[in-house]
Amino acid sequence: MTADLTARTVDFKAGERNVFLHLLTACNLSCQHCYINPPQHGTETLPLATVLQWLELFARPEQQGNLILLGGEPTLHPDVGQIIRTAKSMGYSVTVDSNGYLFHDFLERVSPAELDYLSFSLDGPDATVNDPLRGEGVFAVCTENLRQAVQLGFRTSLIYTVSARNIDQLHRMPALLNDLGVQRFFIQVIGLRGKSARTVSVEEQWQVEPAHWLQVVPQVAQEAARAGIHVTYPKVFLEPDESFACAGQVAENYFIFPNGRVYQCPLCEDYPLHHLCIEENQLVKRNGLFEDRFFALDIAEGCVMNKLLQPDTLEYTAEGKPKHRISCCMLKQEILPQI
Ligand code: SF4
Ligand code: SF4
Repeated sequence: MTADLTARTVDFKAGERNVFLHLLTACNLSCQHCYINPPQHGTETLPLATVLQWLELFARPEQQGNLILLGGEPTLHPDVGQIIRTAKSMGYSVTVDSNGYLFHDFLERVSPAELDYLSFSLDGPDATVNDPLRGEGVFAVCTENLRQAVQLGFRTSLIYTVSARNIDQLHRMPALLNDLGVQRFFIQVIGLRGKSARTVSVEEQWQVEPAHWLQVVPQVAQEAARAGIHVTYPKVFLEPDESFACAGQVAENYFIFPNGRVYQCPLCEDYPLHHLCIEENQLVKRNGLFEDRFFALDIAEGCVMNKLLQPDTLEYTAEGKPKHRISCCMLKQEILPQI
């Protein structure tokens, strides 16, 4: 049988609910591209009782939802074990996205059966690439804890945020992932949010040119799939025959922050554009010119928020036409593992 390394676009599924809950914004690290923005997202650690009430707001006993626990660093939350167990009992499939430090004896206090995925963030195949971005010593701690998690039987995934500073080292990741025993690989594109939106000099550029992205990322994804890893990466550029869809209109994604803001579009997270919020443990719709009013706009560039908030990512022909239509930032492509 020949290997099928064709990337499949993962269309938004009507009714699928993804709940991205930031338990806190505090973190032990200080990554150069951190997207957390405390003036916009709050500085509090949500008390256990509040977390459970908020989870109830988004739970649907009749249909499984996906819960992704985030921070800051979510394992800094003292009750993360109990949050995972209660979320499972509410019918959620639960993933924890960690920077790899795994506080509060995480691997002893949570069992592999209780957690669907433990995800680690790493932005380079070795310390010389990763640590200038994420902090000195981070590569060693993250990979050591990842190895331990795999040994204990946790299902693991790894998130690599591609930027101009590490794209040329991405091709070395499949071998590392294979060695670590990681099951899923999420390649992400740097979002121009938080700290990465504030750097301006040429040497500090984060953004990847479209041609560079297309030259590197699909090939590395195929390589990882050949090594037996399930790979997901963002679509970013739509082909002329592909249709555009805004997840804000056709999917149920909720990005929840400790100050009660609830966004449906992650590109809006640096601004008070959320059209939902949690007040006194109730989900409330805000009336006014917020993110949801933009989702239906049909423009030649594709994603309207990308055009409004990150216009530098767009390129135009001499006639003024966009060279590429930009997909929703949540549209993914996947390649299934080949062995
Ligand atoms: S680990 Fe995440 S939350 Fe912490 S500094 Fe890095 S990007 Fe920010
Ligand atoms: S990224 Fe663009 S297409 Fe996706 S939800 Fe936001 S506005 Fe819609």
